[in-house]
Amino acid sequence: MAQCSFCGAPLRHTFVDLGMSPLCETYLVAEQLNQMEPFYPLRVWVCARCFLVQAEKYVSPESIFAEYAYFSSYSDSWLAHARTYVELISARLGLGPGSRVIELGSNDGYLLQYFIAKGIPVLGIDPARNVTEMALARGVPTLTKLFGRETASDLVTTGTQADLVCGANVLAQVADVNDFVAGIKLLLKPGGTVTIEFPHLMRLMAETQFDTIYHEHFSYFSFLSVEAIFSAHGLRLFDVDELATHGGSLRIYASHAGDARPVEERAVRLRKRELAAGFGRLETYTSFSEQVHQAKRRLLEFLIGARRQGKRIAGYGAPGKGNTLLNYCGIRTDFLEYTVDRNPYKQGKFLPGTHIPIFAPQRIFETRPDYVLILPWNLKDEIMEQLSYIRSWGAQFIVPIPDVKVYS
Ligand SMILES: [Zn+2]
Repeated sequence: MAQCSFCGAPLRHTFVDLGMSPLCETYLVAEQLNQMEPFYPLRVWVCARCFLVQAEKYVSPESIFAEYAYFSSYSDSWLAHARTYVELISARLGLGPGSRVIELGSNDGYLLQYFIAKGIPVLGIDPARNVTEMALARGVPTLTKLFGRETASDLVTTGTQADLVCGANVLAQVADVNDFVAGIKLLLKPGGTVTIEFPHLMRLMAETQFDTIYHEHFSYFSFLSVEAIFSAHGLRLFDVDELATHGGSLRIYASHAGDARPVEERAVRLRKRELAAGFGRLETYTSFSEQVHQAKRRLLEFLIGARRQGKRIAGYGAPGKGNTLLNYCGIRTDFLEYTVDRNPYKQGKFLPGTHIPIFAPQRIFETRPDYVLILPWNLKDEIMEQLSYIRSWGAQFIVPIPDVKVYS
């Protein structure tokens, strides 16, 4: 029986079971379409002792992250978010040429480039060589390593510690959360600050964002569960921002346990809200499955109705979350003729499992579908703006989450 990755208790309670699914970032080339494709169970558990929501580890992290198709720099709104964060945190902590910022899961250097522009020394750490090569090419010092105690100790030995350890959308992807947070503790200078952003479980559940569940995401955090994990490693949370990114994220601020900075009211209030919403009770988590089943039925009802009327539907985007949605709902080219993506790395390839082809965005203009299904719904405003021309032939946007909604 699987055990909780934080507290070690046996996992007996299902949070949601999304059936068998391929790795959602494994885009296929044409020659692979006639070959066998590995599918793994996509089942998420909740620990009855500590309430950490987590996937069983069916796939080794090395096989997932050796090559990562997500280049952070391809999203304008994500870049803007990164730039705003750098301004805010540099001012708040008084960072300058004598400071050091270390980012965990630094991807292609999309964030650290803004610290460099301000003359603040940085180091990125990321396990995927194809993205770290991009970072190095743009002049962002980067280590190609999986982060944990060992990498942190090596850095400390060579005199490298951080005034700011930061990470966005990396904590959920960590297979051994204890090893990762213990590494942060080692890497942090006395008086230093940690900020970590991750999708907020409370929002995932409130808005039925089941498509943000995939094999690459091992854990799904509430403020309470992150606080418990950090506390177990001698780190305390003293502030939190609630962000709109990725369907609703938290940015937690942490320090060493003995730090003198007061705990901000926002952190106290969020903890109370989560407790009031039932995040300290098992039934809150185990009732989520039915919500997901209903969302699937409603999306399929809409798509079946549209196809019956002879409407043509194209997708926009080829994000990991889209692959969970399409595979779980059984949506293939019979519903979705094709999808498009701005990332040239994905163009000409096929979505895993569903084998839906991926084209460059101009394909929408050329084929004039009746509906465009927006798969990265967290970027829907940006995408509807970019694609506003589809209205010239009367096409409409479909946003699948939190509930099927059509935008004219
Ligand atoms: Zn546990």
